[in-house]
Amino acid sequence: MSELAIGILGGGGRMGRALIRAVTEARGCRLAGAVDAPGHPERGKDLGALAGLDPLSMPLDDDIDALLVRSDVIIDFTVPKATAEHARRVGETGTAYVVGTTGLDAAQQAAVADAATRAAVVQAANFSLGVNVSIAVTRRLAELLDDDFDIEIVEMHHRYKVDAPSGTALALGRAAAQGRGVVLDDVADRGRDGITGARQRGHIGFAVLRGGNVAGDHTVIFAADDERIEVSHKAGDRMIFARGAVRAALWTAGKPPRLYGMDDVLGF
Ligand code: NAD
Repeated sequence: MSELAIGILGGGGRMGRALIRAVTEARGCRLAGAVDAPGHPERGKDLGALAGLDPLSMPLDDDIDALLVRSDVIIDFTVPKATAEHARRVGETGTAYVVGTTGLDAAQQAAVADAATRAAVVQAANFSLGVNVSIAVTRRLAELLDDDFDIEIVEMHHRYKVDAPSGTALALGRAAAQGRGVVLDDVADRGRDGITGARQRGHIGFAVLRGGNVAGDHTVIFAADDERIEVSHKAGDRMIFARGAVRAALWTAGKPPRLYGMDDVLGF
């Protein structure tokens, strides 16, 4: 069987560089190339050098159309505005698409959903195996525990992260809400400050920390009187997301158009 050609969008970014490494390390695939925004300071640099590897004789460029032609599947870890535009192009070519960008607004998310009517699309707020298990466990715990247990979600990320709460914290929140049979938007407390009044029963609270080079820490706390359950996940290196995204990319081979999640990829 021939190797799957994987193209990377955002190749000059933190995740893009990890993805270059993950694709070259994985079996059953090869790197088709990587692009970044026009004018990126590393434009023209060898992709191997960017990822801390031996030269790969492929430069970082900005030609998405050429990359789409060379790729069986595209992995996108960029910014929401760019992802919406990429989704429109993927919809036109039908190329399989793995989306890791977080912080999409409703219109940008609609562009991804639209692409999924014409291409196999895997989208996840977090591609790590451990986080996806944590999401499944959170859903189940919320199902088992009534709202005597207050649910609070705490996350910490590196100082450069631009969206808050993280996409993963929101995914954990959605799983908890689902387990309780409610809609997250109806019960989310996303930022308390000043005289907030007492906590409302059944609400799901979020707290956000930023600092250092933390790849991603998440804890879901179920707090009742006199007892507490905590589900914690700590990412040591962003390679866990990159490997998961490459696993998702390999999984898309031969899949019909639809919007899939990591639970589909992992068979949960
Ligand atoms: P980053 O800022 O280091 O990289 C983003 C890259 O996208 C930059 O190099 C930027 O120049 C590039 N970019 C911007 N516009 C572009 C365009 N039009 N075309 C091509 N490239 C473009 O950020 P990062 O830490 O690598 O994170 C990227 C995204 O991935 C964020 O949304 C982050 O939250 C998300 N993320 C998701 C997961 C997950 O598992 N789903 C894990 C980590 C990060």
